[in-house]
Amino acid sequence: MTTALYSHPDCLEHVNPPGHPEQVARLKAIAAALAAPGFAALDRREAPIGAEESIRRAHSRQYIDTIRAAAPEKGWTQLDPDTSMSPGSWDAALRGVGGLTSAVDAVLAGEVQNAFVAVRPPGHHAERAQPMGFCLFSNIAIAALHALEAHGLSRVAVLDFDVHHGNGTQDVLWNESRTRFASSHQMPLFPGTGGRHEKGAYLQIRNVPLPEGSGGAKMRDEWENDILPWVREWEPELVLVSAGFDAHRADPLAGLHWQTEDFGWLTHRICDLADDCCGGRVVSTLEGGYDLEALADSVGLHVEVLMERGE
Ligand SMILES: [Zn+2]
Repeated sequence: MTTALYSHPDCLEHVNPPGHPEQVARLKAIAAALAAPGFAALDRREAPIGAEESIRRAHSRQYIDTIRAAAPEKGWTQLDPDTSMSPGSWDAALRGVGGLTSAVDAVLAGEVQNAFVAVRPPGHHAERAQPMGFCLFSNIAIAALHALEAHGLSRVAVLDFDVHHGNGTQDVLWNESRTRFASSHQMPLFPGTGGRHEKGAYLQIRNVPLPEGSGGAKMRDEWENDILPWVREWEPELVLVSAGFDAHRADPLAGLHWQTEDFGWLTHRICDLADDCCGGRVVSTLEGGYDLEALADSVGLHVEVLMERGE
């Protein structure tokens, strides 16, 4: 068994305005890091165009049509102060959906042990009816619903360690009893949601806010003693991960002060959970992470652990 890496050149054609932190260079830095000899064993696959049927499980037809129509012929369309579209954004967003759903297909078919989907724009802030926080489609929630509806699974876990709360994932999965969604995030911080009292219609959502400057030790304690046991006792059949790397101490957008090694530790613990419950089946996707060097190092370590655990 091995680890698949899904990406596509179209994801470089989603261009935000100058000075925006969610830049093309992020994906280039990741590609450069994963081109090192240590990653030669990755099963590299092109992310296909995602099916509208997949997106429709999370977003209305009207929402999809609105996003499609918003892509400009040149320059930018500003959807909100943070979120914009360039001429290539529509195709890039579809590659994100297709990368995620294909990675779920490959892992569930046993073609690969686990997968990392390196795409942009990210997805976890996109709500059912609202693009937000650099995100257009709710990629990881779409992947969860694909696993439930297209593959007939009945328990899918979604874990989110991006420094920002995954409000979009929470919104899409709020009434979905066949998922457990857990998120750790800095609070207070954008988008402002993610308090412990937000638990979902079936108490299937776990939010763990972390105070600014709390560092890797606090994160490890919360994941080891709260989040992971809560997911493990439910015995998920597949583990999905919203992997944001903006909790890194070097990140310009937040202040949780995690070290690169903390992402390696957490990836190991997530793989332990998957080993215990579902034969090690993990599909992880890129969300945030805005210091290019820290991002490249942290993604490199995350994928290295996935490969080690997928052997
Ligand atoms: Zn983030």
